[in-house]
Amino acid sequence: MNSDQRSHFFANRQAARPLHVIIVGAGMAGLTAGLGLQLTGHRVTILEQVPRFQETGAGIQIAPNAARVLDRFGVLADVLKDADMLERISQRRYADDQELGSAPVMPSAGRRYGAPVFVIHRGDLQRILVLAAKRAGCQIKTGQKVMRVDTTGAPRVQTADDTWHHGDLVLGADGIRSAVRGHVAAAQGHSERLTPTGEAAYRMLIPRDKLATHEKLLKLLNQNVAVRWIGPGGHAMGYPIRHHSAYNLVILHPAGPVPPASDGRQGVWTVQRDKAEVVDFCRGWSPLMQELLSCVPDGELTEWMLYTHAPLKHWAKDRAALIGDACHPMLPYTAQGAANAIEDAGALVTALTCTGSVGLALAVYQEARQARCDKMQAGTAAVGTSLHLPDGEEQRRRDDAIRRATAGFEQGLQRNPDLWADRPWQDFMWGVDVMKDMAGGWDDLMARARARHVGPSYCCCCCFVEQREDESACQPRGPLCRQRRRATKAVVAKRALS
Ligand SMILES: Cc1cc2nc3c(=O)[nH]c(=O)nc-3n(C[C@H](O)[C@H](O)[C@H](O)COP(=O)(O)OP(=O)(O)OC[C@H]3O[C@@H](n4cnc5c(N)ncnc54)[C@H](O)[C@@H]3O)c2cc1C
Repeated sequence: MNSDQRSHFFANRQAARPLHVIIVGAGMAGLTAGLGLQLTGHRVTILEQVPRFQETGAGIQIAPNAARVLDRFGVLADVLKDADMLERISQRRYADDQELGSAPVMPSAGRRYGAPVFVIHRGDLQRILVLAAKRAGCQIKTGQKVMRVDTTGAPRVQTADDTWHHGDLVLGADGIRSAVRGHVAAAQGHSERLTPTGEAAYRMLIPRDKLATHEKLLKLLNQNVAVRWIGPGGHAMGYPIRHHSAYNLVILHPAGPVPPASDGRQGVWTVQRDKAEVVDFCRGWSPLMQELLSCVPDGELTEWMLYTHAPLKHWAKDRAALIGDACHPMLPYTAQGAANAIEDAGALVTALTCTGSVGLALAVYQEARQARCDKMQAGTAAVGTSLHLPDGEEQRRRDDAIRRATAGFEQGLQRNPDLWADRPWQDFMWGVDVMKDMAGGWDDLMARARARHVGPSYCCCCCFVEQREDESACQPRGPLCRQRRRATKAVVAKRALS
C-alpha cells in the first residue's frame, strides 16, 4: 500500500458521533490517540502530570506497525526528519564481540511491510507529537495529575488541584503507573498492583565528541546498525541516534533490591546510578564494550526498573478505557512497547469512526487488541529468558540457532530465539495494519465482541450497543435480541439457583 492510498483510507474516516475525550497522559499512546481523535472530529483534552515536557527516556525504535499509524495521522514526515533508518540488526557475543547473527532491516523491511523501521530520541518523538496534536486542535494541559476517575454517570476525572474534568470518554494513557488502571481494575475485582520483573535497564547516551578518538567506536556510531551484545544474565543494545551525533546504549541486567517509593505504594521508576555499577556488571565483556563504557560521561547513567502487572480481563469500565503501557506493559526486548501503544491509538480512533456507540467501540477495541498484545508480551518475555542464559550447553545451542536463522533469514524456516531478528515474528510484529484490519474486519470483530460481552452485564445486544445496564428499560428489538434475552435470563436464573 503506498502513502497516497493510506492517506485516502484515513481521510474518508470521521467520527460516527463526535465526543469530548479526556486523555490522561501525554506519552506515545495519549498523544497519538489525541491527534487521531481530533483529526476525525472529536474534541480532545489531554491532561499530563509533568509541569513541562522534558527529554525523558533515550532512543527508541519505531517499527512499521506504528509508523503506518503515524503516517495516517500526517506526522510521519516530520518524525522522519529527526530519525535515522535502521539498516541492519547485528547479534554479537558479549565476550569477544564475535557476530553470531544478522538480519537486514531497511530498505527491505520498508518494502515488505509498507512502512519504515527507524530510531529516534523519545523526547524528539514526543515533541513532534505534541506540536501535531496542538496544531490539530487538542488542548494539552500540563501540571495536571489525575488522582480519581468516576464513571458512575457521565465520565469525569479529578486532578490534584481538586478540579473535575468532564467528558464523554476517558482514556487512561498514563503509562505503567496508571491511575486510571486502578479504576478499571478495581471495578472488576482485579489487582492492579505492579510487580518487579527482576530486570532493570541502564540507559545512557554517549555524545559523538566522547567517541571521536576511538576508531572502532566511531565506526559503530557512523553506521545505521543496531547491535545486540548477548551476555550471561543480561544483554546490551546500541545504536546511533540524532543523525549519528550520539550513541544510545541500553544494558539490561538483573535488578537489585527495589528501593521503596515515597508514597510506599510502588517501587521507584528511575534512579541515577554511578558508572562504576555498569562497569562492574560488564566485567568480562569484550574490550570494545569496556572502551564504550569508558566514554560514558559521568552523571549520564540512569537505571530504569522494569515492572509488570497481571493481565487485565477487561480494558474498559463504563466509559473509561486503557491504552498503551497502562494496559499492557512490555519488556523492551523486541522494541514493541511504544509501537503497540501507537497501535492501540490507531485501533481506538478507527473503532470510533465505525460506530457511535462508545460501549461497542471499546469492546471491539479490546477484542481486536488483546490477543495480539498478550502474544507480544509473552514472546518478549521469552526472548529475555533466552538472551540471558548463563554460558554453557544451552547458550551454545541458542547461539547455533541464531547462526542457522541468519543463514536462512529470507525463507524464515529456522526460528531465531531472538525474536527481534526472526523473520516470522517480524511478520507478526511489523506486518500488522491495525487500522485497516479493524475497518475491514469490523463485522466479525463486532460479532466476537458481542459474544464475549453480552451476558451478565447486558441482557441483549441492544443493551450492549447502547450500554444500557438496566434490563427493565430494555425493549428487545429483533428476534435475535429476544432470543438472546431469553437465553441470558435462563443462564442468570440457573446461576442464581446453583
Ligand atoms: C529501556 C527501554 C527501552 C525501550 N525501547 C523501546 C523501543 O525501542 N521501541 C518501543 O516501541 N518501545 C520501547 N520501550 C517501551 C516504551 O518506552 C513504552 O512502551 C512507551 O513509552 C509507552 O507509552 P505510553 O504512552 O503508554 O506511556 P508513557 O510513555 O509512559 O506515557 C505516560 C504519560 O502519562 C503521564 N502520567 C502518568 N500518570 C499520570 C497521571 N496520574 N495524570 C496525568 N498524567 C500522568 C506520564 O507523565 C507520561 O507522560 C522501551 C522501554 C524501556 C524501559
